[in-house]
Order: sequence, then C-alpha cells, then structure tokens
Amino acid sequence: MTTIKLHNTKSRTKEDFVPIDPENVRMYVCGPTVYDRAHLGNARPVVVFDVLYRLLRHVFGAEHVKYVRNFTDVDDKINATAQTRKEAGAAGTLEELVRERTEETIDWYLKDMGALGAMEPNHMPRATQYIAQMIAMNEDLIAKGHAYAAEGHVLFAVDSWKEHYGKLSGRSVDDMIAGARVEVAPYKKNPMDFVLWKPSTDEQPGWDSPWGRGRPGWHIECSAMAEDLLWKQPLERGLLSEAALAKPHTFDIHGGGNDLMFPHHENEIAQSCCAHGDDTFANYWLHNEMLQVEGKKMSKSLGNFFTVRDLLDQGVPGEVIRFVFLQTHYRKPMDWTEKKAKEARQTLTKIAQVLGRPGLEKNRPNQSFGELPQEFLSALADDLNTPLAITHVRKYLKNAQISELAAALEILGFAPERIVEKFQQFHMTTLGSNIGANVGLEVSDNVSERIAETLVELALRFQELRSDAMQTKNFSELDDFKSVLVNAGLEVRMSRDSVELVPASDFDSSKLENI
Ligand code: AMP
Ligand code: ZN
Repeated sequence: MTTIKLHNTKSRTKEDFVPIDPENVRMYVCGPTVYDRAHLGNARPVVVFDVLYRLLRHVFGAEHVKYVRNFTDVDDKINATAQTRKEAGAAGTLEELVRERTEETIDWYLKDMGALGAMEPNHMPRATQYIAQMIAMNEDLIAKGHAYAAEGHVLFAVDSWKEHYGKLSGRSVDDMIAGARVEVAPYKKNPMDFVLWKPSTDEQPGWDSPWGRGRPGWHIECSAMAEDLLWKQPLERGLLSEAALAKPHTFDIHGGGNDLMFPHHENEIAQSCCAHGDDTFANYWLHNEMLQVEGKKMSKSLGNFFTVRDLLDQGVPGEVIRFVFLQTHYRKPMDWTEKKAKEARQTLTKIAQVLGRPGLEKNRPNQSFGELPQEFLSALADDLNTPLAITHVRKYLKNAQISELAAALEILGFAPERIVEKFQQFHMTTLGSNIGANVGLEVSDNVSERIAETLVELALRFQELRSDAMQTKNFSELDDFKSVLVNAGLEVRMSRDSVELVPASDFDSSKLENI
C-alpha cells in the first residue's frame, strides 16, 4: 500500500500518515461561513482537501474514507448581512432573512465548488442542526470546570487548560495575552477566554438554553459536528473498530486554511479535549496557505477579493482555476494571475487535443485509477506535491501517453471527458500558432489556424505510428506516412520524446488533404 506523507502542523514535520483504522479514515475540514459568495481564496482549501480526499479514497478504498465539511450558518456576519437587507426594505423578519441568505449562499457554494470539480464530502452538516449538541457540550464543559456562565454568556476558561492551550499554533497563553489588542469584556476571567454561547436579542436567531435565549460561538460548532459525525454516530451504529474504540473521540485528519489555526483550531482542540478528558482531538492537522493579492491575504474584510462566480462568469472555466491552484503546493502562498490562467488554459487545450483523438475510449483505463503511474502517485502521496504531479502530467501529454494522462488527471479532479468537451472549442481561439508546442510541433506564425490544427493531428499520428513500429519492428507504415509529410514540404524532426513538423518554404498543405 502506498504510504502517504503529510505535513502535520502539530509536529511541524512531514509524517507518515497512519490512520487509526484504515477501514474507516476520518477527516474533518472547516467549511464556509455562509453569508456571501465564496471568494477565490475560500476555494483553495476546497480544492486542496478535495485532492487529499481523492488520494485517500484511492489508497484506502472509496468506501473507507469519511469526509465531513460543515456550513457555519449561525454567525454575526450572517446576521449583519440580513440586517442590511432588512434596512434596505426586504420583507420578512430578521430570522427569515438570515435563513434566506444562508440557503441561497449554500446553494451558490455547492454550485461554484462543483464547477471547480470538487466532490461533495460525505457529510455537510449545518451548525443550526447541532444546537442541542452544542448546548450539551457547553454544560459538560461547565460541569468539568473548563467553562463558566456570565451575563448570558458561556466562556471557555483557558486557564483550566493552560499547559496545552496554544500548542498547535506555538503560542503560550501569556504571550497571547501580551499580544492581544482586543477590548476585554468585563465578564471574562482571563482576556483570552473565548465565547461558547452568547445572548441573542429577540430579533436575532436564537435558541433557548440554560443561559437564556442565545446562540453558539463559532468554535464550538465544529467541535460538536466533528464529535457527532466522526465519533458518536459511527459508535452508535457499531461502525468503529477496536483500534478506533481504543482512541475514543479522536479522528485522523483535521484541515482548513492556516488563518484558522489560531484561534479557531486552537479553540476547537481545547473544547473537544476538555469535554472528552482527552489530550488529542485530531491526529494530523493540515493547513493550506493563503491565496494572496499583492502580498496580502485575499479576504472580504480587506475588500481585495473577487468571487469564484466572477471568474466563471467571465468565461474562466473551473478546470483552469483548479489547474492554477494545483500548480502551487498547498503550503505555499500564491497569487492568481491572468498569465497563470492563460497558461493553464493552453495546457488544458493541448490535453483536450491529445485526449480527444479517436481511440481515447479504447485507451482509457476501464477502472478509475487503474493505470496510475507510480511516479505520479508518489508525488501526490508526498504531502500532496501537486506541482510535481503536474510536471508528470505535462510529460504524459508531451509523450501522448493517453492512459497515464487520463488516470493522472482523474485523481487530480479533472474529468478527462469534460476537458475534451470543454477545451476543444477553445482550441483555435486561444492557441493559434503555438498549438503544437507540447507535442513538439513548431508552426510558423503565418500558418492558418486550421492548418495548425491539422499539423498537430499529424504529429500525434506520427508519434503513434512510431511507437507501434517500435513494438512490432515493422516500420513500413511509418515510412510511408513520413514520405507523404516530406512530399508536402514538412521537415520531420524527431527526438526520443517528441516529433516536430516544421513547414519549409515549399510547404503545400493541399498535399496533406488525402492523408
Ligand atoms: P471562512 O468562510 O472565512 O471561514 O473561510 C472558509 C475557508 O476558506 C477557511 O478554511 C479559510 O481558512 C479559507 N480561506 C479564507 N481566505 C483564504 C485565502 N485568502 N486563501 C486560502 N484560504 C482561505
Ligand atoms: Zn472549524
């Protein structure tokens, strides 16, 4: 079995990934707060963890991987958006407007992320479906001395877990206090104590609780949903193996953007470990770096964002966005640039050209992943080295290794048929005279696009005949084919991996018509 290595934020090293139970690999990723369209930065973790999900399914078997990603549908930002709508004259109560907003945002999110080729996780719980579990967890934390109620709030007492709090992000409570610039609420015992529950006005969404009508804090949402879906429910259904039962409440992978490491993930760990009396919440913590704009994190609050939908509406295909993302390793910051998008589109167009040739069906692996080359899998298994994986993709493209190309694309989340369908139409407009570059074809600027396309076909055909001839040791068909090309005024330049067809001054395209 392939060993996957993952960079664990907890240890700050790359570790062999050893699941608690290989028959039931469990992963939780923090999902979006649904108050507006996802910006491009929000899409980065979706694509990164989608590739990880696909890799885990490949290595452990699709039915042995459980992926949970939540929707935060109760949050002050959502309330503020609904309030703005109300003030602008929208009909309905604030609660109704909140609900309307979250529903439409979830719908947009699933469509936009689907356009990027992201599979839907096994579970997509909404925080509002877990209020009872959050209240129960808060009561438990109070009973165990890790939380206290004050003025309608429930707060987590960081001093009750001082030795552990801050380990993930590498901070101590004292440093945090020294660095904190937030105004400290008078009811907090320690300035770093964070909210588990807070009061709601009559208008705001709220639920009855032992502390009055209120709503949960953000962090407790993930603790409650992860516990229920990755531990309690499987336990009740008898789905946990002995190995899993020996590590109660712990699951394998927790992911999200590195902006969530502190305080969100630190707080999730504190809540869950203290409620369960454990020292481990998730074994491996993975964090993607940020998508940036001129060196700054893309974010709604900085206003330096554009949405995934903006790009899709401008005609940038989801596959291009995905390809651009995967060309940078997930632990490196990256920018979105037009140049990257253009190059990705060109590569995908060339891929479509190669995959779109007759015979693809015949050559495609009949089983998904059936012929995934080991070098490619090793790259991906090495802490998701997608840039290296894409270098291999380019090689398969250049060598017209169709079945390797299709298998590699599939696990990276590109459906080969979709690429053919979508990108063949871009072919003429976007590539022009550079069309043959990756199959080693040079086409001069004054050759028409139609001829350029024909030459690509011919170069690919030549490569195919050559590889057949190498196997059968019968070169007559290849020689005949080459004669026709030379007669038409094409210089055939061959290297080990490629074929270049270079039109000479006597090039006569009409001589190619019957080929
Ligand atoms: P939010 O809705 O703000 O909680 O964010 C949803 C997900 O997007 C989280 O995993 C964040 O870490 C991630 N995220 C937010 N901004 C960026 C960014 N600029 N680049 C990469 N990931 C981001
Ligand atoms: Zn979370």
